[in-house]
Amino acid sequence: MLTTQAPRGTRDVLPQDSYRWQYVEAKMRTAAAEGGYREVRTPVFEHTELFLRGVGDTTDIVQKEMYTFKDKGDRSITLKPEGTAGAARCLLEHNLYADALPCKMYYLNAPIFRYEAPQSGRLREHHQFGLECFGAKEATVDAELILTAYRLLSDLGVKNLSVNINSIGCPQCRPKYHAALKAFLAGKVECLCADCKNRYERNPLRVLDCKVETCREQVKDAPSMLDYLCEECREHFEQLKECLGASGVPYQVDSRIVRGLDYYTKTVFELITRTEDGNLTVCGGGRYDNLVEQLGGDPLPAVGFGMGIERVLMLLDSEGVTIPQPAQYDVFVTRMNGYDLQAFTLVQRLRGAGLRADMDHCGRSLKAQFKYANKTAARFTATIGEEEAQSGTVKLKNMETREEKTVPVDEAAETIRNWA
Ligand code: ATP
Ligand code: MG
Repeated sequence: MLTTQAPRGTRDVLPQDSYRWQYVEAKMRTAAAEGGYREVRTPVFEHTELFLRGVGDTTDIVQKEMYTFKDKGDRSITLKPEGTAGAARCLLEHNLYADALPCKMYYLNAPIFRYEAPQSGRLREHHQFGLECFGAKEATVDAELILTAYRLLSDLGVKNLSVNINSIGCPQCRPKYHAALKAFLAGKVECLCADCKNRYERNPLRVLDCKVETCREQVKDAPSMLDYLCEECREHFEQLKECLGASGVPYQVDSRIVRGLDYYTKTVFELITRTEDGNLTVCGGGRYDNLVEQLGGDPLPAVGFGMGIERVLMLLDSEGVTIPQPAQYDVFVTRMNGYDLQAFTLVQRLRGAGLRADMDHCGRSLKAQFKYANKTAARFTATIGEEEAQSGTVKLKNMETREEKTVPVDEAAETIRNWA
């Protein structure tokens, strides 16, 4: 067992890199709040049954990708493979549907676990930012979600974004399409991958979602769900397109988007970017009007999306977007031998005044303390030597301009604050 290596498909966020996450997270929180979405936090694990019923037992996630185990009480537990089922369970458990609707919630930095083959942009533990809106059936919400994701990603600096939308209908109109799709695929089953042969039997829609090139080739001319939509679904899709059109966001209808989860109805969408390695889906979502009922509640329309945070960061990296890096310290207190207590007291005072401050804790010489202050890119040093200690002052130095000022200890924080 390797104790100095994280499990395959997982990634550490290092202390010197976490500011990048915090920057993106802050933008995400703002984007959510602008639409009235409030944060929900649900457990990392749930009863396995929730995902079997919610996500659907013919999906890749449930069939191949879940981290499922028995706990010591012999209950089957699964680490969250997506965020929506947990949010819906939470809504039901706490009767949130009984409040004024819609109930809008978001989750941020939720760890998601999928047993996938690790590769670029594909991890076994990744993190998502997601929005869920329960209790609203109009396509204006579908559109607002798409726009929220689009604006957020554009603001962050993601380029070449395309918004792809589709409608996969409802239990009224989908069976007819299933039959048509099955008839279309009937002669091609032999050419499909092993997974798709199985999908063909159990859930033919899934074949459209296959990433294997030969399968993609086979479904190129498949019938489109859009030709089979019932009146209600058709109108809903029209309203969505109208809203997106009015907002000016460029979008495309792609009748092959079906999404990897069974709970979707009507709208499905993906935000995709072109990268050197091909297309990358950074955000996916859709409407799931039947999920709440499927989990045992009264019918409640809902719509949401999930956005992979690692993928967002990867895109910002590849596009050379610079994220402002905050200095680790505003002030580094350096002191001559023998003035440890004065330095310690000053650090605490500076922190009390809201500055990021520290001193040497490793027995370094004065010269080495300055070197360390430089290395940490501290904006200021505050030095206590014999003279300063005796007169109750401290020598401040602006590390950028090299300018120095000696001030009473009491005024150190204020001076630094006002120093342009
Ligand atoms: P894909 O088609 O790439 O497998 P998906 O349809 O399985 O994606 P969703 O379930 O919609 O993905 O998850 C929402 C978002 O989470 C994706 O758009 C992507 O940004 C991110 N994501 C999904 N799976 C992974 C993974 N294994 N590693 C990193 N990010 C992921
Ligand atoms: Mg997937």
